Amino acid sequence: MAMVRVRFAPSPTGTLHVGSARTALFNWLFAKHQDGTFILRIEDTDQKRSDKIFLKDITSSLTFLGIQADEGPYFQSERLAVYQEQVQRLLDSGKAVKEAGAVVFPVPAEEVTFHDLLHGDITVDTTLFERLVLMKSDGLPTYNFACVVDDALMQISHVIRGDDHIANTPKQVVLYRALGFSIPAFAHIPLIVGADRARLSKRQGATAVAEYRQVGYLSDAFVNYLALLGWSPGGNRELVSREELIQAFDLSRVRKTAAQFDQQKLDWLNSQHLKRTSVERLAELFAERLIAKGWLSNDYDRDWLKRITQLLHDRMRVLSDLEEENAFFFQDIPAYEPEAVANFLSGEPIVQQLIELRSRLGLLDSFDTTAVESVVRGLVAEKSLTAKALIHPIRVALTGRSVSPPLFEVMSILGKDRVLRRLEHATQLTAHR
Ligand code: GLU
Repeated sequence: MAMVRVRFAPSPTGTLHVGSARTALFNWLFAKHQDGTFILRIEDTDQKRSDKIFLKDITSSLTFLGIQADEGPYFQSERLAVYQEQVQRLLDSGKAVKEAGAVVFPVPAEEVTFHDLLHGDITVDTTLFERLVLMKSDGLPTYNFACVVDDALMQISHVIRGDDHIANTPKQVVLYRALGFSIPAFAHIPLIVGADRARLSKRQGATAVAEYRQVGYLSDAFVNYLALLGWSPGGNRELVSREELIQAFDLSRVRKTAAQFDQQKLDWLNSQHLKRTSVERLAELFAERLIAKGWLSNDYDRDWLKRITQLLHDRMRVLSDLEEENAFFFQDIPAYEPEAVANFLSGEPIVQQLIELRSRLGLLDSFDTTAVESVVRGLVAEKSLTAKALIHPIRVALTGRSVSPPLFEVMSILGKDRVLRRLEHATQLTAHR
């Protein structure tokens, strides 16, 4: 069987969009499934719109997704001589002509049929497009021309790309024939749409892969989610590992209709993948984020961060829950939410209880969860309080928030010094309100 060679050919004119990432992924999975070659080609001939910043974003987003090129990246801007040579062949044979500094290809009137692996045979009347510009007057090739030359010379066996290119394909087929190149197989995959069924755009939320990375979706979870946008492994399976995706991927199960972006499913998959991530690995991911934010130094206490990780492991949606909801672990004095303070830190009895609690906790040698819990419960019993009546104020005092992971574990992880300092601070705060 002929070798499978596919390519992902982004234009560096914007950040890597979720839709393009899905195209890259389908190509990659298709190649990996068949031991084929996945090629990265940067279509950067539009000098005005191309930017190194976008190239960097595309490269780092692909790295984040774990989509590695087996060949390339090739840059079209470095292949101008190749396009020149091919256009010369068409000029020499009289198939193309010069026109006001550009090179154009007058398309013979005919019906062109090509086969699409998803959509079947597609027939187009070429009088719809009449003439194709191959080289612009600035000497740069058009997309359709450069794409055909590269796909042919790079021996691409399958062109898998977004539906939005389906109108280009008959034009490209005409050019393959004129150049005497053999025609690859095509598969045009459906667009991704938002909840409003319109093409996924900024209006419906984040569209750049980098944004999802920043929010803290795991690479495997995001890849799992992207794979389900328009494809399924069958049997209602949703939670799928990278290896399983490679094993199961098959163009025949790609749907023909637009795939709808479903934030809830992405979140669910991410929490499932998070649960399956080891505490060690998760702690590493946390450390990277915290160090980047300057909340943790390079010689941080690994055991301590592991305890936090253990606590959050099964309670997370995205990695940024750590910084958004659990910042108090890393602050000297937590940022107090005004509403939490207003609801739970007021009145003389609370002041007295916090003072009492502080002095009892101060006597503890071991600050493990059981020890702090028995101090709190002891105080509750003695003062005939309900547990809630004391626990809520303590929680706000220590975390600044009215919701947090289980309090006694939080206290134990914060440790005696920090807990005593925060209780002192909250007591002052309450007394002076
Ligand atoms: N540079 C084109 C794009 O980003 C590539 C289309 C193709 O795969 O042929 O849309």
